[in-house]
This record gives sequence, C-alpha cells and structure tokens, in this order.
Amino acid sequence: MRLCRYDEDRVGLVRGNEVFDATAALDTLPPLNWPIPQGDHLIANLDALRPALEAAADESLPVPLDSVALKSPVANPSKIIGAPVNYHKHLEESRADHEINLGRDIKTIDTYGLFMKANSSLVGPSEGVALRFTDRRNDHEVELAMIIGQGGSDIARADALSHVAAYAIGLDMTVRGTEDRSLRKGIDSYSVLGPWIVTADEIDDPDKLDFEIRVNDEVRQASNTGMLIFDCAKLIEYASSFMTLYPGDIIMTGTPEGVGPVEPGDTMHASIESIGEMSVTVRAHEA
Ligand code: MN
Repeated sequence: MRLCRYDEDRVGLVRGNEVFDATAALDTLPPLNWPIPQGDHLIANLDALRPALEAAADESLPVPLDSVALKSPVANPSKIIGAPVNYHKHLEESRADHEINLGRDIKTIDTYGLFMKANSSLVGPSEGVALRFTDRRNDHEVELAMIIGQGGSDIARADALSHVAAYAIGLDMTVRGTEDRSLRKGIDSYSVLGPWIVTADEIDDPDKLDFEIRVNDEVRQASNTGMLIFDCAKLIEYASSFMTLYPGDIIMTGTPEGVGPVEPGDTMHASIESIGEMSVTVRAHEA
C-alpha cells in the first residue's frame, strides 16, 4: 500500500498515477486526549486501519497525482534519526573535500553513532526546501528512510525489520559548517520525506534498492542500499539500544557519495527503486 498525505491534510492511497481519497477512514481512529502518546497516531494504528483505508479509497473518485500537493506522509514522528557517514565512498569524499570536512578528521558511523534532526525540520515534497545561510554551502543528501511501525527498545537484529511499517525517500539537507550536525541538519525544511510511504510488505529487501538524485537533470548521487556500512537492521538494533523507538519514528539511513551544493532556483529529483520518485524545489528562506 502506498499512503500519502496531501493538500489540506487529506490521506490518500496512491494507485498508479492517481490518488484515491481515504480520509474518511480516519474517523475510525481512537480519539486522543492530552497528553498524547509519543509517536504518530496514524502509523501506530496503520495495521488496524488498512481495511478501512482501502474501502474508503475504493469509494472515492481518483485525482491525478500531479494535481495534489504532497506533504510529509508521516505527520508527527517522535523523532527523526540520522546516520552519519554510513557509506564508505561518502567517507572518502568527505575526507577529500575540505568544504565538507573543514579540516576535521572524518570517521564513520561506528565512531559517531547517530544524530537527531529536529521534528520541526520535516516537510513534504510540495513544500520545497528553504535554504538558510546561502553564503555557505548547502548540500543535498538522498537516503532511504525507514518508518517505524511497532515500537520497542533493545530490538534484536533478527527482529529489526519486523518493526518497520514502511519506507520512503528521505532528503537529509545539510548546511556545511562547524556547528553540531543536529543544528546544521535541523533547519526548517531540511528533512524532506516523500513522496508517500510504501508499506514494508511491498519491499522485498531494503538493503538492495537502487536510488539516485538529480539536480536540474544532472545525476549527482546514484547508489544502492547494499553499500550501507550499518544496514537497515543494524540501524534499528543500534538506535534502539539507546532509545525507545515509537510508531512513526523516521530513520534516515545515510547518504552515498556525490553530495553537492544546491542553490535557490534548483530542482532536486530523487527516486528509490520500488518506492517512487519526487521533485523538490529549492528557494531561499525569507525572514
Ligand atoms: Mn545524511
């Protein structure tokens, strides 16, 4: 199932090049009261809601995909987790490029562990990226994103992928500089998730997916998740050894070689095998 959020927070099923409105199914969600539980209410109830989503979609008249504004398919993650230097060839380019390393010694994810991106940085493809600090280098990073379904702590590697509800394309936008990653990658609109989520039953092996990103039709990054240093299961095992994962939590798995600058006016086009593709425009932030 391909589930999107679009326009004024409608929920839709994507079938082919059409969106089928399934918003009516949300009426069956259990009501929430303060304090709301950690995590995304829709993802937490996704398994139970699936029949109602399919039924609502079957009753609706589809609209063309290109006629809707796609928002982040996950509305309320309890956290967005990032994976630094999780591809060997990205390690090599980071060590070779002074504009990336700024004279620092670059190590791998074994040394750095993980980092957090602010939830307020999350947008969907239709919202675009609003660059700040345009006198500095702002880079694209295309990544496979995992959406946690059943939460948990101390999740064993053998069970890890059963905790994934769905997959999506993630853009981990980054301003280069000396500040901590959480700040440089936590800017408003610097976490793009889309174009929809594809439920895990449709992905045979998340560690064997081709993906790429083009900027204005120039291919910048093209790799396969088979090149990950910490693979998908390891990332979940590792993250959950530090913190409880909740439904809707987003793990951006890391980016391969080819990161490079974007400027206002650019259009990024990202795709991942078995998931889909999305275009995201770049503009300058206006105070
Ligand atoms: Mn990244």
